[in-house]
Amino acid sequence: MNKLIFVSGGVCSSLGKGVAASSLGALLEGRGLNVRMVKCDPYINVDAGTMSPYQHGEVYVTDDGAETDLDLGNYARFTSGALSRTNSITTGQVYEAVIRKEREGRYLGRCVQVIPHITDEIKHRIRSAAQEDPDTDVVIVEIGGTVGDIESVPFLEAARQLIHEAGKINALSVHLTLIPEVAGGELKTKPTQHSVKAMQEQGIQPDILICRAPVMLDEGNRRKIALFTNVDPEAVFTSYNIETTIYAIPLIFFEQKLDQVVLKKMGVESRHANLEPWYTMMEKFRTRRGNVRIGIVGKYMELHDAYQSVYEALFHGGLETGVAVELVKIDSGKLEEPDGFERILGPEAPEGSIDGVLVPGGFGQRGTTGMVKAASWARTHRVPYLGICLGMQIMVIDWGRNVLGWEDADSTEFNPQTKHPVISLLDEQVDVKNYGGTMRLGKSPSLVEPGTRLFACYQQETICERHRHRYEFANTYRTAMTESGLRISAYTLDRGLVEAVEWPDHPWGVGVQFHPEFKSKPTAASALFRDFITAVRDRKYPKGEGNNDE
Ligand code: GLN
Repeated sequence: MNKLIFVSGGVCSSLGKGVAASSLGALLEGRGLNVRMVKCDPYINVDAGTMSPYQHGEVYVTDDGAETDLDLGNYARFTSGALSRTNSITTGQVYEAVIRKEREGRYLGRCVQVIPHITDEIKHRIRSAAQEDPDTDVVIVEIGGTVGDIESVPFLEAARQLIHEAGKINALSVHLTLIPEVAGGELKTKPTQHSVKAMQEQGIQPDILICRAPVMLDEGNRRKIALFTNVDPEAVFTSYNIETTIYAIPLIFFEQKLDQVVLKKMGVESRHANLEPWYTMMEKFRTRRGNVRIGIVGKYMELHDAYQSVYEALFHGGLETGVAVELVKIDSGKLEEPDGFERILGPEAPEGSIDGVLVPGGFGQRGTTGMVKAASWARTHRVPYLGICLGMQIMVIDWGRNVLGWEDADSTEFNPQTKHPVISLLDEQVDVKNYGGTMRLGKSPSLVEPGTRLFACYQQETICERHRHRYEFANTYRTAMTESGLRISAYTLDRGLVEAVEWPDHPWGVGVQFHPEFKSKPTAASALFRDFITAVRDRKYPKGEGNNDE
């Protein structure tokens, strides 16, 4: 039977529960265990696919095409266990399944209730995720929300039952809290005491506490917290504020022996810890020289979470190429305002000094004219450009408008009446009205054309990346586009769909219909982000003599 670890949070949200759970996962993998990460989300949406990025940050897509919470992106960056739709459990899915069974008469006339029916469904889903891979040693289940929230109660109740059934040696509760600092620099443990009490009211005694605090807790505070919460003093850990990177957190926990305490409590024989990839990554972080400024031209710029995986992948690309990556967030709508372009990207503008442009994925017309302007600017100013999904479609629209001279060239998503629909729905999709049904989702293979930048990057003819889009490069324009010089650098296996394009005679301009950011890790950057940042770095520091501009 697998071991279960439940990670819950208290006091307030945004304490970094996902990163803490993922870091624990990374440490246990370092000890040679097979770890599987599961997220329980208390919202009623069936999945994150229909939620605005403003509401809930990015939608993370798994290989099997599930549109999930962005925490799964953290799991993917910190751990290597498989992630699929079974790793994401939402209240919406649970109720949908229970109500479906009720309609089918499967409850045999019984009154259907939160306990046991909803909780049984949650337990069933956690167990299914655990059993999907028979080699799984430990399942880490992150419970979204904060203890005390109405929505979290069924998940905590399911966790309580599972802990009780599995026995303490097989199931642990890890609880994350906040230790605030009041005027005078004093650290306060009271909110943590209350948070643990709230857990105890749910019938769960936390075994391990991870306290978010401005600084490392001293022995006195640890003992005090332990005394009030029934947690062993050596099981009280600190996640203190760091200036470096979130990827330092596994090592910060390792130094405090979090993995040793977890293994001991679960009766797992201690094995040698191999955290070499994390130490190597931190060494790369510390030895970066120089800095490149990447303009991300999108429409959800106010909320960092909206493009989380893209930002992380840029950082990974920087680690791999030895430069710090500065994110310059450019609201594409602003580029459309009178003088907006001059103000933001003109020669006098502060952002005018950006070294590379990235247009990420997105939906809807708003801001796309600004994106086309930014792509055009990168193309004509020979600034490296990476277009992801919508960002690739924008490259094609720019080519239609500004190279082929079709002023109204557009995607039918943005202008259904255009005479030059260079991006459109597949013919057979045109009549399909069911929103969501036509989306191309999840992993699928692409054929890369030898001799292209894309080939230089992946070094493989067949690659496999994840998709999340509805519109496609319109095949009727293939000839016009390629004869005028736009390079098609990847297709679907049957060559029926265009998967990537490139600018000719340009330092590096690549657009891909897929999302390479979802598979990028700090310990293994996406090749596409690596090559993009390499091109940016080499253009900024052409002599290659050590990127020394600090
Ligand atoms: N809106 C575009 C489409 O549906 C691009 C989607 C995306 O960038 N993820 O095809």
